[in-house]
Amino acid sequence: MTSHQIRQAFLDFFRSKEHLIVPSAPLVAKNDPTLMFNNSGMAQFKDFFLGNGTPPSRRIADTQKCLRVSGKHNDLEDVGFDTYHHTMFEMLGNWSFGDYFKKEAISWAWELLTEVYKLPKDRLYVSVFEGDVKDGVPFDQEAWDLWKPIVGEDRIILGNKKDNFWEMGDTGPCGPCSEIHIDLRPVADVAEVSGKSLVNNDHPQVVEIWNLVFMQFERKADGSLNPLPATHVDTGMGFERLCMAVQAKISNYDTDVFQNTIQVLETLSGKKYGDSNEPFADIAMRVISDHIRAVAFAITDGQLPSNNKAGYVIRRILRRAVRYGYSYLGFQEPFFYKLVSVLSEQFKDVFPELKSQEEFVAKVILEEEKSFLRTLESGLKRLDVITAFMKEKALNTIAGDEVFELSDTFGFPVDLTALIAREKGFQIDEVGFQDALAEQKKRSRQDAAKEATDWIELREADGVEFLGYDFEETHSHITKYRKVKTKTGDEYHIVLDRTPFYAEMGGQVGDTGVLVLNEEGKTVSIVDTKKENDLFVHISKDKNLDDALQNAGIITAKIDIARREKIKSNHSATHLMLSSMREVLGTHIGQKGSYLNDEVLRFDFSHFAKVSEEELKKIEDRVNEKIREDILLDERRNVPIQQALDQGATATFGEKYGDFVRLIIFDPTFSFELCGGTHVPSTGKIGVFKFISEGSVSAGVRRVEAVTGEKALLLMREQEETLNKIKDLLKNPTDLIKAVENLIDEKTSLQKKIAALENEKIQALKASLIEDLEEHSTFNLIVKQVDVPSAESLKQLSYELRDQVENLIAVFGTEIAGKPQLSVFIAENIVQETGLNAGKIVKELAKEIRGGGGGQPFFATAGGSDSTGLESALEKARELF
Ligand code: ATP
Ligand code: MG
Repeated sequence: MTSHQIRQAFLDFFRSKEHLIVPSAPLVAKNDPTLMFNNSGMAQFKDFFLGNGTPPSRRIADTQKCLRVSGKHNDLEDVGFDTYHHTMFEMLGNWSFGDYFKKEAISWAWELLTEVYKLPKDRLYVSVFEGDVKDGVPFDQEAWDLWKPIVGEDRIILGNKKDNFWEMGDTGPCGPCSEIHIDLRPVADVAEVSGKSLVNNDHPQVVEIWNLVFMQFERKADGSLNPLPATHVDTGMGFERLCMAVQAKISNYDTDVFQNTIQVLETLSGKKYGDSNEPFADIAMRVISDHIRAVAFAITDGQLPSNNKAGYVIRRILRRAVRYGYSYLGFQEPFFYKLVSVLSEQFKDVFPELKSQEEFVAKVILEEEKSFLRTLESGLKRLDVITAFMKEKALNTIAGDEVFELSDTFGFPVDLTALIAREKGFQIDEVGFQDALAEQKKRSRQDAAKEATDWIELREADGVEFLGYDFEETHSHITKYRKVKTKTGDEYHIVLDRTPFYAEMGGQVGDTGVLVLNEEGKTVSIVDTKKENDLFVHISKDKNLDDALQNAGIITAKIDIARREKIKSNHSATHLMLSSMREVLGTHIGQKGSYLNDEVLRFDFSHFAKVSEEELKKIEDRVNEKIREDILLDERRNVPIQQALDQGATATFGEKYGDFVRLIIFDPTFSFELCGGTHVPSTGKIGVFKFISEGSVSAGVRRVEAVTGEKALLLMREQEETLNKIKDLLKNPTDLIKAVENLIDEKTSLQKKIAALENEKIQALKASLIEDLEEHSTFNLIVKQVDVPSAESLKQLSYELRDQVENLIAVFGTEIAGKPQLSVFIAENIVQETGLNAGKIVKELAKEIRGGGGGQPFFATAGGSDSTGLESALEKARELF
């Protein structure tokens, strides 16, 4: 079976068991403060398990793009060294939301593996949770009883809490699990050592392929467990590992999932995968063919490489790949970006989003590669310096913080630093490095530290009803709240059953406003509204609200209307701007990020050149034209997604859309967008639109900022005031530009005149100095206080005298803007014969003027603070010579 068929067989199998097949959520996690990237199939269904929403079906199956490179699951350092952990992988999963439980999950898993995929039964092992006395959870007898007749007792392994008890987080749903492992070793090895003894022992051919989680408890903040009212199933099977098993290979990289990219790497490098003479070339090919998937799909789903957070994670993965290519495959020039087209072709039917952005993704990677190849060389040089120093001191272990610096500043993964070090006969302080890393992690954890209490439930509610499209205030109930300690102070997080508050989403800021707790007559001010999964969380910084919140009956939730109006204008203007940009710059313009509040709208988009003044003006004109047309908003809710796309609505990559979407249309031939934001009833309300900046964010991504309405007026007024001030200063000329030009011309010609006058003065001075020359047998001396226009003139004077007087020694003193200056000149032949040094002499003389200076042996200068000392400084010079 090809990998395509294997994936399809999984989906078909569960469709036949009445599962709804859904698309993968984007790789980049949205609206979940605990996750940067989706790291398991269930991540997109969290809300259903938490009871914050209702799934579209009680049985669902899919393949989910997962990334395990940060947080709880981080497999990065293993990738390439082993043959079955990836950064990005597909997790095949089937779910029951309060529907079937262990019996069906177990028997279907077995049926699929052994009857559809025809995996050998005598090579499969399963594990069952053994129970945990301390935690008060019993042995999973139910799973044992179900597995026993299927696999036989001797193929069941008991597993502890670490391997066989799954928890969503510190709190929330949890339960025992059963893992399925497969033994793929050759027959001879199996005869020697039993597979059972190798399960969970990091053997590359005895690996876990499927994990079946049975959610039946809920963990509370105090650590106790309560049974869940409804039980769920959550399973996850590694697609690439499954392909290895079905295709009877001994490594994931030998399957057709990775062979395409490996073959391209072979051609590009001229090396052969599997050549035992070059084990590191093999590792490099695995690393690269793995990492390109993570990097390409992350960028596709909207996560560009950058300097912090999720963006930095992606940048590090990319750098790791480039580094391996550079060291072991001889790639001195960018190569990584060339693999994008291979992937986009391979996945065009499964994850078509890559195909449609192929050119953009490749360009972003290319730019990143170019810039890393520049630091890479400096990093290698830095490592050379470190090792040279150590050789000198007869040290052989590179210190932990040096290793950390290399990884942090130059993007050198620690294993590579270790390797290069080893080649040079050194080792690295791994423990010291881990300490430095832990220290950094601690710092970043402290930065993010938030401590939340359990939700305090006040009222049963089935999700939240958002009424903010139609109402600015609503009567509501508080359904739950909690207290959160953050770095900036304590917060209350309040959830309502219905709310007019828009929660930050799709680039639009959250609303602010008040909750009026009617019965108490008390007002709670809301400073922000955020989405947490599907919850709308109203954030208040008010103190001591517990009693008031608990006793509130029907409350009134009111948003800050004036602020919301401005936000609406900025949001609608963003839509008009995007359409205008597509007209002016081309249809390749895709949204790469957006942020808008009541003051400004910011928009990032894919485009490879600076947007010229001319183009900006055209876009601005077009937007304002559409504002003046006063187009009525055509808002359509609950449109089936496919219908919306068929009609030509633009969707943003990396955004997750439900089955039903909302359309925001300002003239169907002009602006037709999928959008959940709030908008003006007609474009005239925006008033006016004005760009305030255009620039680059990263390779291939530009950013514009603009303002609308009152803000735009204020901005224009400010500019007008500046202009008026300038006019005033210039005595209100009729032609302002001409007046400023004249001013500049006048300044230039005056500067020229001054320079000529100064030169004349120096020439006259020079002539008189030559007349006063003191002739000595071996040298000609001038020591004199002179009147020159600048400190620079002393140098000019000395150099010009040198050209006319042989064996010259010249010492000058002068005062420039009230400050004393000295210079000493000694003809070079005298310097050479006598060893006299102008620099040393000027330092000595400068003591008289309370200053210091220096220069070369033949010419040096000094400045000071006491002009009365000039005469004695010159006297000293006379004595000296
Ligand atoms: P392992 O112990 O092998 O790291 P795990 O216990 O972390 O696996 P789960 O979290 O249970 O794995 O994930 C479910 C399935 O996803 C696993 O059975 C495995 O097939 C697959 N899987 C997990 N991590 C990876 C990875 N880094 N690369 C590829 N597949 C993976
Ligand atoms: Mg793992």
